[in-house]
Amino acid sequence: MTPKQVIFADWDVSASIVAFSTSRLGGVSQPPFATFNLATHVGDDPHRVESNRALLKEQLPQQLEWQWLDQVHGDDVAMVNKAGPTLTADAILTTRPNLVCCVQTADCLPLFVAAIDGTEIAVIHAGWKGLASGVIENTISRMSSSVSNLAVWFGPAIGPCHFEVGGQVRDCFLASAGSSSLVPAMEVCFLPSENQGKFMADLYAIARLKLSVLGIDKISGGDYCTHCDSDKFFSYRRDGVTGRMLHAIYIEA
Ligand SMILES: [Zn+2]
Repeated sequence: MTPKQVIFADWDVSASIVAFSTSRLGGVSQPPFATFNLATHVGDDPHRVESNRALLKEQLPQQLEWQWLDQVHGDDVAMVNKAGPTLTADAILTTRPNLVCCVQTADCLPLFVAAIDGTEIAVIHAGWKGLASGVIENTISRMSSSVSNLAVWFGPAIGPCHFEVGGQVRDCFLASAGSSSLVPAMEVCFLPSENQGKFMADLYAIARLKLSVLGIDKISGGDYCTHCDSDKFFSYRRDGVTGRMLHAIYIEA
């Protein structure tokens, strides 16, 4: 795959694990889906989406099977050991080699998880609703590896520079932190915006905090803002009608 089409996960895990996020570059879709849109549900010409998926697949091993999700901003985790029809869930987990687990986003946080020894993988679609309802905790609790054997890489999401939310969203996270020592750490994830009563939410920092509570400290990525980088990424906040990036992970047989 060309460097402009994909960003590979930068983490210290078994070489058998392949994980990447696509960019918006190097495909055939026309505006407002230009050019490498991989989602069928956003209004793009289905033939162009099919061409983009074919462009991706022809650069990967032909024996890969693909499992697709219908994402609903919930906390369900699909545990799969063979590819089947599209499943409704916001996270997907497998131990099976050559089975591609993928989610699609345009601002939400794509969170990749891998057992360092290469035995188990997951990928999570984490918008604020999923984060609040516990999609990270649900996914990690279903993995059989100990947390010390897990590493996480954050793909490109909207950054705290652009993700403005209302006070209710912040309240919801502060309530979930309870009366614990986590409250000050959670407050830091929501700095006041220049707009009265609004906050700039940091999805990466919220996810990091949740992972640290679970005992996961091998975390990398989180260097991009999809809204800032319009050349490279789709952003729902920025553009409304737009494409989706694909976030895929598999264990090479
Ligand atoms: Zn930004």
